[in-house]
Amino acid sequence: MGGGYAGLHAAAAIERSGVPVTVVDRTGRHDFVTRLAAVAGGTAPAEDASRPLESFVDRVMVGAVTEVADGSVTMTDGRTLVADAVVVTAGSAPSRPPVDGIEFVHHLRSAEDAVALRRSVGNASSLVIVGGGATGVQLAGAAAVAHPSLTVHLVEATPGLLQGLPEAVGAGARRILEHRDVTVHLGAGVDRITARGAVVDGNLLEGLVVWAGGFSAMADRYDMPTAADGRILVDSALRVHGHERTFAAGDIAAHRNGRDDHLPMSAQIAVRAGTAAGRNAVRAVRGEPLETVDLRQLGWVIDLGGRRGLAQIGPINLTTVGADLIPPLLHDAIDLKDLLEIGGFLALRYASAPVRSLFANPLRCWPSRTPQPLADVAG
Ligand SMILES: Cc1cc2nc3c(=O)[nH]c(=O)nc-3n(C[C@H](O)[C@H](O)[C@H](O)COP(=O)(O)OP(=O)(O)OC[C@H]3O[C@@H](n4cnc5c(N)ncnc54)[C@H](O)[C@@H]3O)c2cc1C
Repeated sequence: MGGGYAGLHAAAAIERSGVPVTVVDRTGRHDFVTRLAAVAGGTAPAEDASRPLESFVDRVMVGAVTEVADGSVTMTDGRTLVADAVVVTAGSAPSRPPVDGIEFVHHLRSAEDAVALRRSVGNASSLVIVGGGATGVQLAGAAAVAHPSLTVHLVEATPGLLQGLPEAVGAGARRILEHRDVTVHLGAGVDRITARGAVVDGNLLEGLVVWAGGFSAMADRYDMPTAADGRILVDSALRVHGHERTFAAGDIAAHRNGRDDHLPMSAQIAVRAGTAAGRNAVRAVRGEPLETVDLRQLGWVIDLGGRRGLAQIGPINLTTVGADLIPPLLHDAIDLKDLLEIGGFLALRYASAPVRSLFANPLRCWPSRTPQPLADVAG
């Protein structure tokens, strides 16, 4: 259930074991969520946002699942699909905080959001992004590169960008963004949103408002056991509490590491958990003992567009001038690795446009003195 990062990795693991698998997805497309800030900001083309699921798996069913039982899923139109095992990977959705005027904001979570936002950003003269986490920071970076005359405000409630990452990473993001004339408001509170912009600490920041203030799983709508944060409770084999043949992985599952700490919602965790859940689903079908899954977040790679970015990989932070050229290359390398895992060698043709153009002209990866908009792919 769900053809995102966790779902397609689960499907690939199940297919590799020779068990037939069907992916049920409400849109029928795989969204490349980690590319969406570049698409919305305008440094990557709209076609980079998603691909039909048939590009990666043979059996696809388009439909939104409303009910999950132990061994079946039911869709909005009443169709029920019965299976030996179910892997729930329906992702997350933007949180809707109780802020006045929240109905005026734009979101960035799906390919559809990214393509719509890309059009709006292209027509705007000012952009106000609320939330200085990975989504907000990446969108601010891409929009500032693709539209140099756009006024960009980035509003964050805490004292630093990229909370949860080492301070140097947040400071590095601020350095790059301010170099691009993004105005970073730290420790700033949004009073309300209006049709004209966001009122922040009493001042109206005019512009298109994007709410990048977090995501939640809201899995209780499927009548599944959930943790306080709305994510599905799973055991160490990623099996849903109280279920025999239902597994959950990715943003929708309350994953924990070996020390019992909650793990963040990330593509990295979704990929590893999806693969593990797929393998354990096969074991459950075959009556074999399930494997304990050891998950951990190894770090973060943040691509700010314009061939600059930041990374934290274990104890190593890539944040300084010069080192900031490496994260965008890592981001593209991870994207290629994921494509290989879900679709084999042929899937590499779905690499992002900047990577495809790099194959066409390898010298493009040579750093230019100033970040250049990818003008040829931005239109
Ligand atoms: C803009 C942005 C940038 C990000 N960048 C990074 C990054 O650089 N690195 C990183 O590690 N993480 C990043 N993340 C987080 C990461 O993308 C998510 O953690 C990841 O997508 C989770 O994968 P998933 O498979 O759980 O969910 P998704 O990839 O969202 O897939 C969920 C799928 O389920 C389908 N679905 C949902 N509901 C139903 C239903 N009822 N019935 C059927 N199908 C359904 C959806 O259509 C979708 O295809 C980013 C997130 C955003 C929003």
